[in-house]
Amino acid sequence: MHHNQRKPVLSGLPFEALAETLKPLPQFRAEQVFQWILRGVSSFQEMSNLGLSLRKDLEQRFSLYSSGIEGRAEDPDGTVKLYIRLYDGQRIEAVLLRDGRDRKTACLSTQAGCPLACVFCKTGIRGLTRNLDSGEILEQFLHLRTIEPRIANIVFMGMGEPLLNLPQLRKAVAVLTGSRGFGLSKRRITLSTSGIIAGIRQLAAAGPGVGLALSLTTADSTLRSRLMPVTLSNPLSSLKDVLYDYQQRQGRRITLEEVLLGGINTRQEDSDALAAFASGLDVVVNLIPWNPVQGMAFEGRPLREPSNREVSAYMQRLESRGLKVTRRLRKGVSIAGACGQLGPSRMGGRTVPPNISP
Ligand code: SAH
Ligand code: SF4
Repeated sequence: MHHNQRKPVLSGLPFEALAETLKPLPQFRAEQVFQWILRGVSSFQEMSNLGLSLRKDLEQRFSLYSSGIEGRAEDPDGTVKLYIRLYDGQRIEAVLLRDGRDRKTACLSTQAGCPLACVFCKTGIRGLTRNLDSGEILEQFLHLRTIEPRIANIVFMGMGEPLLNLPQLRKAVAVLTGSRGFGLSKRRITLSTSGIIAGIRQLAAAGPGVGLALSLTTADSTLRSRLMPVTLSNPLSSLKDVLYDYQQRQGRRITLEEVLLGGINTRQEDSDALAAFASGLDVVVNLIPWNPVQGMAFEGRPLREPSNREVSAYMQRLESRGLKVTRRLRKGVSIAGACGQLGPSRMGGRTVPPNISP
């Protein structure tokens, strides 16, 4: 699709599609190539169980990958952010998160930029450049595996809105979860959406049965429309209906993510509206104190982080209404690898941030 002038790329193809592409090569050869790709070899030359002339032939006809690591930044807390350059020069980011229990999670992007322009999110600033294809989504995982081979969890919480790129996301998830692919459990994959109703309907009808997180931020519909313009075309009342439907079919608890903006969405009205929105659904509320992004403002006022007191008080108010609430630990703040801090890395004319080691 994007690759007309170039050799076809093999990385994002589910096994069946790869076998088709490599025909008339026999199935077992396709299997070998597929396994090498999953292992993340960097060239056809490394595929030692293929004959030399076959390796050469493949190299002439195909590309293994289409993206490359351009730089990396590491936070003292163990978070690593990769700067990835796509074939057309676009830059995206993928993040490796490690938690206290030594659980490793890949945070992947689904679009270069994002069209939805939430006022608190850095990715929204640059708008959408384009959707990623399945190979570009999968390659982020392969790149992260070169740092940490044992990644068992995936969150689609990087740049972009996953439900605006569902066909390519589905292909990538097929490789991640396939018995012929990485065999990851669907229970360990979570997709975060700003609330695209049509997309949630498609998920409910046709999968993939991954976990769902909704970036609610506030259930006060007027305020949400001002913070997240996507609300105007995806109203909260219909959103709740499709979530209910999704839950009936998938039977999984849904996460409601609330990015907390100091002095904005931690009011009594917000907790009231949230409790009303959550009633009848099986949800856990995940509070995410806003990660600061320089220069961001809401209707003329600079955004600020919520104070600890503000977060605790809001959390208590939700709990006293019977909601299950967790508070997200901050990760990767020093390298801007935290939620919503993924964005144009070429600000101020610099191509890469200063704390990068090649
Ligand atoms: N587009 C999808 C997924 C990517 S954003 C979505 O919006 O859900 C992933 C999460 O980061 C969302 O919950 C979003 O609300 C949150 N987020 C965005 N900017 C943030 C910031 N500056 N600080 C903390 N969280 C932020
Ligand atoms: Fe897009 Fe999500 Fe950022 Fe909103 S929060 S602009 S939907 S990436």
